[in-house]
Amino acid sequence: MALICAIIIMLTLNYIISKNIQYKPGKVNNKESFYRRNPAFTTFEKRRHCCLKVGIGQDSHRFDFSPGKDKKLILGGAIFDGCFPLDGNSDSDVVLHSLVNAISGITCVNILGETADKLCLEEGITDSQVYLKEALKYMGDNKIVHVSISIECQYPKISPKIPEMRRNISKLLGIPENCIGITATTGEGLTEFGRGKGIQVFSCVTAI
Ligand SMILES: [Zn+2]
Repeated sequence: MALICAIIIMLTLNYIISKNIQYKPGKVNNKESFYRRNPAFTTFEKRRHCCLKVGIGQDSHRFDFSPGKDKKLILGGAIFDGCFPLDGNSDSDVVLHSLVNAISGITCVNILGETADKLCLEEGITDSQVYLKEALKYMGDNKIVHVSISIECQYPKISPKIPEMRRNISKLLGIPENCIGITATTGEGLTEFGRGKGIQVFSCVTAI
């Protein structure tokens, strides 16, 4: 008898909880406010309703081959000495820019464009790490757990700098280096990037 009563109570509770947890569409912070109102709710329930998000970002810059430039080539925060720089108003870190776009793909708040232009042109901030930090401000409850980056260029040689780039991005995002994968290809010279005109980068960010 006691067992039957316990089952009935459990089913009733489960019904009540499942009714309560149906978040109303259009209310952005509905899930968050639900947990704030129900602090006793278990971690299990939080995990059950955890949401996986994936953002993809792309960016490309052409090289600036004009002589006498003291601008450095910077990719993923790593300086490539003795290389032609990329064209652009900022430091033109095309790796971080693609990462910013991937984060915007999750937050739905675009940083490159109006916001970055304002930081760069009005405030004189050319460091792309600042744009990345700006993008991260809108992550809310979402935590980045993995990043995959694919670089296409004919020049410079990327492989020797991959450990340094992973280290920099790890610090910026606050995730372990083994959660950041970076690959590089020349694409067999089938595109302008593979023929040495510039660099193209795709980034994929996973957040929970
Ligand atoms: Zn860019």
